[in-house]
Amino acid sequence: MSSVGNLEPGSRHDLRVGISPDAPDETEVSPNVDGTFGYVHSYETSSRFDGPGLRVVLFVSGCLLRCNYCHNPDTWHLKDGTYVSVRKVLDRLSDFAPALRSLNGGLTISGGEPMVQLAFTRGILAGAKEMGLHTAIETSGFLGDRADDWFLSTLDMVLLDIKSSDPETYRRVTGRDLAPTLRFAERLAALGKRTWVRFTLVPGETDDPANVEGIAKFVAPMKNVEWVEVQPFHQLGAFKWKAMDLDYKLSHTPSAGPDLVNRVISQFREAGCHAR
Ligand code: SF4
Repeated sequence: MSSVGNLEPGSRHDLRVGISPDAPDETEVSPNVDGTFGYVHSYETSSRFDGPGLRVVLFVSGCLLRCNYCHNPDTWHLKDGTYVSVRKVLDRLSDFAPALRSLNGGLTISGGEPMVQLAFTRGILAGAKEMGLHTAIETSGFLGDRADDWFLSTLDMVLLDIKSSDPETYRRVTGRDLAPTLRFAERLAALGKRTWVRFTLVPGETDDPANVEGIAKFVAPMKNVEWVEVQPFHQLGAFKWKAMDLDYKLSHTPSAGPDLVNRVISQFREAGCHAR
């Protein structure tokens, strides 16, 4: 059993490793476990980029994808996170709740992948809603089949990362299958769940026009998708790969420049998406 630690404020750019060495492997967490406790990387208190209004963003540990451009490989494993209780998270969140409500913001749970520790994140989201906060997750959708109606009812919106429209590219870039993400997107569309799609633009990896076109055509008919957000790749996470002794293959990949970003945003718009 991991020992209970302190909920750490900070930034997604902070490196945190080896904090709970006896944590289970992230592949072993059942959605039905008691979610009273879970593993957290850190939290930020004043994001304006991870959903509407001013947001607290909680970065939970655990992800089953291995994106070759991941900025936060220290969120992949539960053992690198801090073991904390839902109660502790909600107590801390309550300090910010009046400001978040008055600035039309709320809580976004990111990671890592919020649906790895589904029972834990569901408890936090339900508690946030009881405080009158707007709630969101940022997810790859890979574990979307785990999301039951109860979990979805705790969410006001979803930030859904669609990393590619091409199964081969998706597998090469993430190590996993594309189909669960598309299935989850279709489910959100059928429910009319407010969604922002996010696309990480990585030169030489995801920037192929046909790849972008495929996502644009898939998303354009979905009335629940308010925005497609193009997120340019950067090297801010490179130091984490080095510090963790991981094989980082993108060390020579340039950041996505304005011309490329504009081309991709135009592609989404021409397909009928609201893109930025
Ligand atoms: S889904 Fe997100 S956290 Fe997981 S490997 Fe990909 S970029 Fe990293």
